Amino acid sequence: MLALPIPRARGSYTGGRWRVGSGLDADVEPRVARILQSFDGQKDLVAVASSLRPAVSAKELREVVQRAALSGLLEEPDWQRLPIEVLGESRFRCLGCGTSCRFDIGPLLPSDLERLAALDLRRVGHQGDYLREMEVAGVSRSFLKKHEDACVFYDHDARNCKLHATFGAQSKPLACQAFPVQLAFGPGGLRLSLRSSCAQRIETFQRGTLLKQQESWVRQLQTLGWGKQGPFPVWVLFLPEQATAELAPGAHIPFSTYVQLEGALLEALSDPKLPMAGALCQGLRFLYGVLTGQPALGAQAPTVRERARGRECLRNVCALLAAEVFEPEQAALLRRIGQDGDASATELDAQADGFLRELLKQEIWGYEPLRWTGSFLPGCVMLVIACIAALALARGAAERRGAAVPNAAEIHAAYNGINRIVLRVQPDRPETLLPFAQGPVFPS
Ligand code: SF4
Repeated sequence: MLALPIPRARGSYTGGRWRVGSGLDADVEPRVARILQSFDGQKDLVAVASSLRPAVSAKELREVVQRAALSGLLEEPDWQRLPIEVLGESRFRCLGCGTSCRFDIGPLLPSDLERLAALDLRRVGHQGDYLREMEVAGVSRSFLKKHEDACVFYDHDARNCKLHATFGAQSKPLACQAFPVQLAFGPGGLRLSLRSSCAQRIETFQRGTLLKQQESWVRQLQTLGWGKQGPFPVWVLFLPEQATAELAPGAHIPFSTYVQLEGALLEALSDPKLPMAGALCQGLRFLYGVLTGQPALGAQAPTVRERARGRECLRNVCALLAAEVFEPEQAALLRRIGQDGDASATELDAQADGFLRELLKQEIWGYEPLRWTGSFLPGCVMLVIACIAALALARGAAERRGAAVPNAAEIHAAYNGINRIVLRVQPDRPETLLPFAQGPVFPS
């Protein structure tokens, strides 16, 4: 595993405020200031944690690092020397879908502000101020203003970016240039993945350029300072071999084990012999095995008992969703999926099948399960739940269209829709959404 870069705090603590200079300072509690002062550019996160008295939990430490990185109180470590890793044959090409224009664009980097200030915005019919200030982790930062629920530079009629159309892609803020690509630290360098919110993922997965051929573009984004906005899951940001990840709330595993676990899930999703229902069952069975301390890693054939457990998990998940989330006809379909992983209920056309597998793999590769819940197991279960629910929703859409099986567009729309539902439900009802939580004690 690579030694990952180690950050240093910027500025110093005086009179209850953390001061960086150039107007960048923040109200910081003494406890947080003590943690920040430990980031000297020498100690990694583990060394920082063990040097702090009284001790600080890993969760609090991560939160402090995340907030400090977002608010510009931590220097960006030297991560440009790290190799970039992509997943298999992933592809990407920006098709200008405009999804990113609906987000809050910022915090803008100094280089973004300079570039925008140099443009003659009268050419895009813009006059007056285009910036607004918003607080990020206690620090005021500049964002682009919004108009009618989109960026002030978004052209609703032409459905594109006026800056891009008039001045070229490189005139845009870095966040816009980079979307939906994201980088996170992984065991072999920087992991490049595609964010789930891109509306053109079907086309981009199929017709985009191989990501592994686009390293120079990604490196170019890096030189512009990408990363200062803090899109990284900083729990792995600065950790070398001692890194840990949360398997379940409070239960930590070495990062190398985490990599093995996610590798097994990726393998199940890549197995052409497994239909979608089989891949999902395999995933659930595998997660159950991890939870009970008996992960079936590698190509071992599952035992009869493991198969039964996988089916039981799938049934629980489907019954839960049927009761909680869905309309009656979708609930009936979910129960069918839950019946022994009914393969016919999860049939897709070949394009939709390939799309869904790639989508799930990108989510896992981009640490989305961890971002959702902070822990690997609950996050992966959420992912499978979202997928099963999306299959049921897409099936409903296909039936209304008079088709036997859903296509990729129906899967994409259903997955995006269900994600919001699943993510909304989960924090309040983890005990019901995670059927595994009733199982044996998590291994420590
Ligand atoms: S600057 Fe352009 S690409 Fe960026 S959010 Fe605004 S309209 Fe979209």
